[in-house]
Amino acid sequence: MDGADADAADGTGDRTDGGGRSAVPAGDSGTAAGVGADDAEPEGPPEKMLDRAEELTPMLSQYLELCRGHPDAVVLFQVGDFYEAFCEAAETVARVCEVTLTQREDSTGTYPMAGVPIDNAASYLEALLDADYRVAIADQVEDAGEATGLVDRAVTNVVSPGTVIDDDLLDRASATYLAALVERGPGKPNGVSDAPDDEPVAALATVDVSTGECRVTAGPTDRIREELERLAPAEVVVGPDVGLDASALGFETMVTERDPAVFGRDAADATLSGYVAEPAAVLDAPIERRAVGGLLSYAEYTQGGDGALPYVSRVQRYDLRRSLRLDATALRSLEVFESRQPGGGGTLVGAVDRTVCALGRRRLEAWLRRPLVDDERIRRRHDAVAELLDRPIAREAVREQLSAVYDLERLAARISQERADARDLRSLRATLAVVPELKAALDDAESAALRDLRTSLDELGDVCDLIGRAIVPDPPQEITEGGVICDGFDDELDELRAAEREGREWVSSLEERERERTGVDSLEVGYTQVHGYYIEVTNPNLDRVPDDYTRRQTLKNAERFYTPELKRREEEILSASERADALEYETFREVRSRVAAETERLQALADALARLDTLATFATVAADADYVRPAVGADTLRIDAGRHPVVERTQDEFVPNGVDFAAGHVAVVTGPNMSGKSTYMRQVALICLLAQAGSFVPADAAELPIVDRIFTRVGASDDIAGGQSTFMREMSELTDILHDATAESLVLLDEVGRGTSTADGLAIARATTEFIHDEVGAATLFATHYHDLTDLAADLPNAFNRHFTVSKGGGAADPVHASGATAPDPDADGTEVTFLHRVADGPASSSYGVEVAKLAGVPDRVVSRAREHITHEADADATTATPSAAADRVDEEPQSPDDSGADPTATPPAHRGDTLAAYVEGLESDDPDDNANGRALESAERDVLEALRDVEVARTTPLEALNTLEDLQRRLDE
Ligand code: ADP
Ligand code: MG
Repeated sequence: MDGADADAADGTGDRTDGGGRSAVPAGDSGTAAGVGADDAEPEGPPEKMLDRAEELTPMLSQYLELCRGHPDAVVLFQVGDFYEAFCEAAETVARVCEVTLTQREDSTGTYPMAGVPIDNAASYLEALLDADYRVAIADQVEDAGEATGLVDRAVTNVVSPGTVIDDDLLDRASATYLAALVERGPGKPNGVSDAPDDEPVAALATVDVSTGECRVTAGPTDRIREELERLAPAEVVVGPDVGLDASALGFETMVTERDPAVFGRDAADATLSGYVAEPAAVLDAPIERRAVGGLLSYAEYTQGGDGALPYVSRVQRYDLRRSLRLDATALRSLEVFESRQPGGGGTLVGAVDRTVCALGRRRLEAWLRRPLVDDERIRRRHDAVAELLDRPIAREAVREQLSAVYDLERLAARISQERADARDLRSLRATLAVVPELKAALDDAESAALRDLRTSLDELGDVCDLIGRAIVPDPPQEITEGGVICDGFDDELDELRAAEREGREWVSSLEERERERTGVDSLEVGYTQVHGYYIEVTNPNLDRVPDDYTRRQTLKNAERFYTPELKRREEEILSASERADALEYETFREVRSRVAAETERLQALADALARLDTLATFATVAADADYVRPAVGADTLRIDAGRHPVVERTQDEFVPNGVDFAAGHVAVVTGPNMSGKSTYMRQVALICLLAQAGSFVPADAAELPIVDRIFTRVGASDDIAGGQSTFMREMSELTDILHDATAESLVLLDEVGRGTSTADGLAIARATTEFIHDEVGAATLFATHYHDLTDLAADLPNAFNRHFTVSKGGGAADPVHASGATAPDPDADGTEVTFLHRVADGPASSSYGVEVAKLAGVPDRVVSRAREHITHEADADATTATPSAAADRVDEEPQSPDDSGADPTATPPAHRGDTLAAYVEGLESDDPDDNANGRALESAERDVLEALRDVEVARTTPLEALNTLEDLQRRLDE
């Protein structure tokens, strides 16, 4: 593996498929219990059996014992071809798996029982996992035929959401993580480089049990909690005293408690020593070792419990400061992996996913989840992408070869865990077989990353050759019934096969010989499972049967015989075939373990293939979707004609927009609803994210600084679908931003302040922006449809206004009109507002946003206040308008502020300030008759305004708000 990109193996994807598990609510104690959903109580050993433990039949007492050993799981107990469960567990299985609840009776009583067929176990397991159960599989570990008395059974595998290894239950596109979280209070030296001793620290260890990838990081507790949310593991094992409430986490997971002792220093070191020679040398912070130790001890327990997991070949430490910080909120609001649209829309990963193998797909996700912050490493990836982009033939060759690659990471894990069958080994060989051609395709590679990749593409010729010689090309699924090993691989096997073959040949020529000897033409030689080989002579010919024939079986029209020679041959054939099968199985296991010895090389190859697929993917997207190479490490951010990678795919004609932070670091983006503000801001963030992940970007050109963190705060109203529209949440996220953002951060504030009364919201938004402007210095995009905020930019030296233009009226003079989205105009006269989705310098043209806000039910007071601001600004403009301020507005279409039926063409707005000032003044008047619109407010309208004023927005749930709105509308209609 190459050094510079060594931890580019950032394989830190997670389950994004939702999985369907419900979150686990906390127990009363505040710490979530093992399996805690209401319907998923830990089973424990059945009471009814405990009461009669002494009298139970041997089988049930064996079951009871296994339940005692796995109190946190539903024990599925193999009985022949079924997995069975009894008592409460039976009821659970019957309910969750929708199978019939039956009973088992014995001398001690009647017990409820439910069973599922082993052949189909995966689908039942999935149902149990989805319902938040952990399942212990108790297999018969002794051949039922050979057992004397009770068959021995043992738990071979505990299946929980984070420890699934069955391919049928795994998502191939994403990694499934099991995590362990350890925390400790401040005070003592903590050995964590990232955290002062007086801060609480934590460590988070993760393992993908299906591939063996194991990583750990430590740091300040809040930072580690953030990392936990970003990784969204399927299951979290919590260390001593870690209060983790699954229902409060933003992802679905299972919280698992273990004996705190496994997290103790000595116990953890002991566990770790099964994986790394000198734990303390690899992980110097004790808290990291405790996390990994506790994690692996649980992983071992779930995988059968006898010793280390052979495919966890290393434990990798990583430093959160070496990647772009993207917390769960940012990942969500940028729709990197999950769409926020109710029905599920596009995501960033979906927009750029051109991977051709599962390895690449998971790596792509890992790179997007953890973009880089080191400009050299970023450029290294860009160099490789540029080269693959410039050489389409090599790129296509690479992709074609990669598409024949199997999921090498999971194959390697299966092989080393002795779960792989003969087909898996052939899949491995098919994967290895593409390596020489891949290397050839990269023969003239010039970029460092591709050259290093080429070097680390290890053909594993020895392994490839071994499998080719040993395993037949199209082996059967079963590995115990022969037909797996090639001829010529093992002398003894060849001899056995030869003996068998020779015996069969002898038998097949016997018929001919015996017919000649006896003169009976109808004589036949055959075979039955029960009686073995026989010679059959029909009744009329029985008098010609020779003396050496012994009667074996009598049929209606014939007799069957054998001879001593035939009997001897038969035994030879059968024993040769049985021994051959056994030897084949033995040989297979030997071959598999020889391959398993190369696990680390296989993993290194898998890593190289994953990187190559991801780089080729970036190049392919760049070619297909017209992305350009960004210059990274620039002083200020500048994007020419940028596009939103996801929206541009769904929009017929996407309007590119640029941004340039040369004018300052705070951009206030105004424009009415639906004009494109959110899309615009997000595209800036996505472009930065893509660039730092190593991808090219959707723009004509881009110069980007390296950002250390992307913060997003989306106002509550934009987040109703997410169900997180509480003002508290909004404010706490804002606090994070103010606290953690640096001059190197990128901050997106989208309609901040909407979760409370608007006036408060505006005040908060204003203060926040000022703080970021004065104290933080982060590149900030602040979108608002409140025109009120545009004067901020005028007040602050390093802030500037950008706005979205809107045209009003039906004309299609501007070609963009045709493609812009249209929305019904508030006016009744049939004119339409056309959104141009085009950003321009300066603040939005008028109170258009205020009108929209008013229509949307924004409290009257705020609407008035907003208008005051407009008036104020208009006055200021009238007296101090600078040439540039005037120029800013050149592209604005004239607009009329009416919202109450006045003829929009009546007063041609020479300067928008004039009309607006008059208009607002009129509105401000207490006398309803003195309205600038020349029309009195009706009493119903005034009632409605009163009611609106009284709404306590901060205490109103989204649903109540909708009801209120509906009610207000109804009152207006009456
Ligand atoms: P706002 O935040 O101003 O309310 P959005 O960014 O949510 O507006 O955009 C509204 C819709 O307009 C988007 O869903 C998208 O369909 C469309 N849109 C936004 N920006 C563009 C653009 N640059 N080109 C074309 N369509 C766009
Ligand atoms: Mg928006």
